[in-house]
Amino acid sequence: MASSTLAVNKVAIIGGGIAGLTLAIALKRQGIEVSVHEKYSHYQSHPTGFLIWSYAIKILQDLAVPVDAFGAPLEVFRMHGRQGRFVVDMPIGEISRLNGADSYEVNRLRLSQTLAAMVGDDLRLGDECVSVDSTPQQAMVTFADGRRLQADVVIACDGANSVVRQFLHPDVALNMLGSGGWIAVIDQIPPGLPLGYQMDFWLPGCKAGVAQLGHGETRWYAAFTEMQASATVSKKQQILSRLNPIPDLIQHCLDLTNEDQMVYTQAGDLLALSSWYRDRVLMIGDAAHATSPYAGMGACAAIADAAALAELIGSGRPVPEIFECFQQARKPVADAVIQDSRQSLDRSTSAGVRAWIRDLMFKNIPEPKMQEIVQAMVSGH
Ligand SMILES: Cc1cc2nc3c(=O)[nH]c(=O)nc-3n(C[C@H](O)[C@H](O)[C@H](O)COP(=O)(O)OP(=O)(O)OC[C@H]3O[C@@H](n4cnc5c(N)ncnc54)[C@H](O)[C@@H]3O)c2cc1C
Repeated sequence: MASSTLAVNKVAIIGGGIAGLTLAIALKRQGIEVSVHEKYSHYQSHPTGFLIWSYAIKILQDLAVPVDAFGAPLEVFRMHGRQGRFVVDMPIGEISRLNGADSYEVNRLRLSQTLAAMVGDDLRLGDECVSVDSTPQQAMVTFADGRRLQADVVIACDGANSVVRQFLHPDVALNMLGSGGWIAVIDQIPPGLPLGYQMDFWLPGCKAGVAQLGHGETRWYAAFTEMQASATVSKKQQILSRLNPIPDLIQHCLDLTNEDQMVYTQAGDLLALSSWYRDRVLMIGDAAHATSPYAGMGACAAIADAAALAELIGSGRPVPEIFECFQQARKPVADAVIQDSRQSLDRSTSAGVRAWIRDLMFKNIPEPKMQEIVQAMVSGH
């Protein structure tokens, strides 16, 4: 039987997403036994994409993850303002490299497949966790088919709608923000989109963006502040009716995209949960600190969680100390990301005089201030 003072030898990870797979890779490198239990028997059928900042790419590269297999470095984040016109270029590539790694535009499906291949047979697909239990000495997982698994610790990486969170916080639900939109990956490059550029459009009530992912692919998204998708109106029509005039680049993306490539998501977050662990069960990634996507930080925070936790587990300290140290180190950062994402949504979709002032400020931003802003983005703090 495990004891609270003994080192962790066997880790059960619930969820084979970004946090779960990165944690498994980091623990396996230290010779710690892991099993990753993923609910679905396959990965998403529609690829989506996102931006992974320098600090998280550095972690993946240190784990020997071949990041060029699923993405392309980002050089410039080009912001367009309330009328769709150019406002400012943010020098992402230059400042990322000063932090030790490029920031990358990433195909999420390829990222998952690459991480899954590295985890190998320790990833069990089709293994749905329905509940967990824990004492100070051991943790137990129950699966949908009735099987039970005992481990030294259970790490919940089961995402924004975490089942394990019910064990720790039965009354907490995801806080829906009312915003939502579509994201798509297409295997074509729209005219006017150079490699290495993310073109972002900060329009009244809408944030849209597009970037190449390398490998001949492009990702684009369009999200709206007040959004409930209609099942009867076409997805493109719902975008077009809200974006008038529509930036040429987003129109080109719509022209190159089939409706069934467009994935709808609704933004929600979890502001400042009181605790991320109980006994031998700990939550990381979106399970602990789901955030809206508007600061582009959720996956980066999940990767940083995984690396920090693997290091603490590898230190051989007692479990209560590991979990408490982890929470103390990561919770303030994650809580700040959630707040920042909310502010980012508000800032990027504002209208009227607020949007006019924002555009003017960004247009005239002094270089040292711009470097400070970009440094905070690429380094995660
Ligand atoms: C539209 C959109 C755009 C985004 N853009 C960015 C961005 O640009 N940059 C960025 O850093 N982040 C971005 N994010 C956030 C990012 O996707 C998440 O923060 C990240 O995926 C969290 O990783 P995770 O491993 O914690 O959760 P997930 O990636 O959600 O993985 C959870 C896994 O657990 C599995 N699971 C769930 N329940 C169970 C169960 N009961 N049993 C077993 N397995 C289970 C799921 O199937 C899934 O595979 C974006 C999110 C969205 C929605």
